Amino acid sequence: MPLYDFHCAHCDKDFEEFKMLADLDEPEACPECGKSAIRQISAAALGGSLGGGGFHGGEGHNCAPSG
Ligand SMILES: [Zn+2]
Repeated sequence: MPLYDFHCAHCDKDFEEFKMLADLDEPEACPECGKSAIRQISAAALGGSLGGGGFHGGEGHNCAPSG
């Protein structure tokens, strides 16, 4: 089961919770205040590192002479 990051806007607490894909729409209860916390998008979930400056070659114009 994947681990997801949650953030509680009520008490400003961050916590992690194992959740199944079917339960992702369900609000997670904050362990501190018990109110519903929102799911954070973690960098690991995006499948890569954020803010690395990784460019893919760029624009490569190859003008072949036609004729
Ligand atoms: Zn809370």
